[in-house]
Amino acid sequence: MNLIGLGAPGVGKGTYTKLLSKRYKILHISTGDLCREEIKKGTQFGKKLAKEFLEKGILVPDDIITNMLKERLGKDDCKNGFILEGYPRNISQAKILEGMIKIDKVLNFVAPDEVITDRLSGRIICKSCGAIYHIKNVPPKEPGICDVCGGKLYQREDDRPESVKVRLKIYHEKTAPLIKYYKKKGLLADVDVSTPYEEYPKVLKEVDKILRIGV
Ligand code: ADP
Repeated sequence: MNLIGLGAPGVGKGTYTKLLSKRYKILHISTGDLCREEIKKGTQFGKKLAKEFLEKGILVPDDIITNMLKERLGKDDCKNGFILEGYPRNISQAKILEGMIKIDKVLNFVAPDEVITDRLSGRIICKSCGAIYHIKNVPPKEPGICDVCGGKLYQREDDRPESVKVRLKIYHEKTAPLIKYYKKKGLLADVDVSTPYEEYPKVLKEVDKILRIGV
C-alpha cells in the first residue's frame, strides 16, 4: 500500500504519518526529514540545502528533491509500501511521482488555522531521531530530551515566525492545488486532525475506515 499524506505545515501530518506507518507496517518517508538528515551530516550539499532553502522556508528545486526521493524509494525496505510526507509539494512533483510509482490513496490532513498556528509555534523535534513534540500539548517526559532516543530537542529554524509566514504562503499557492488534483483522480480523502493529540486513536480508526482496513 502506497500512501501520501498532504496538509499545511504544522497541521500534524508528520505525527500522524509516523503513527500510520507503524500501524500498517509500511515505511514512513518524509522529504523534509531527508533534507534535515543531509543537513545534519554537515556536507557541502547539506549546507547549501539549509542556507538556500530550508532556513528561508522556500521549496528545494524539483530535480534536487526528486533525486533524494528516488534514492530513498530505491532501497529494499520500501517494497511493502510507504506513506510519503512532504512530497509532492506542487503539481509538477505530483506528475513526476506518477511516472515513478502507483499511489493508492492520498490522505489530506485538515484542521482550522488557529490549531495549525498553535501546533507550529510550540513544536519541538529531536535532533537525533526526528520525533515530534509540542511544548504544551505533547511535552516530553523530561524537558528538552527525547523520550524515544534521549536525543536533544530543538525548535526548527523554519518554525520561527518569519519562515512560517513564507511556508504557509507557499503551501496555499503551490501545494493546496494538489487537493483538487487528487480529488479529480478519485484518490483524495480528508482526515480531520483538529482533535487534541491524546485522541489520536480516533483519527487512526478513521483512516482504517477510509482504507477499508478491518471493516
Ligand atoms: P513542513 O511541511 O512542516 O513545512 P517539511 O519538513 O515537510 O515541513 O519541509 C521542510 C522544508 O524542506 C520545506 O520548507 C522545503 O524547503 C524542504 N522540502 C521538503 N520536501 C520538499 C519537496 N517535496 N519539495 C521541495 N522542498 C521540500
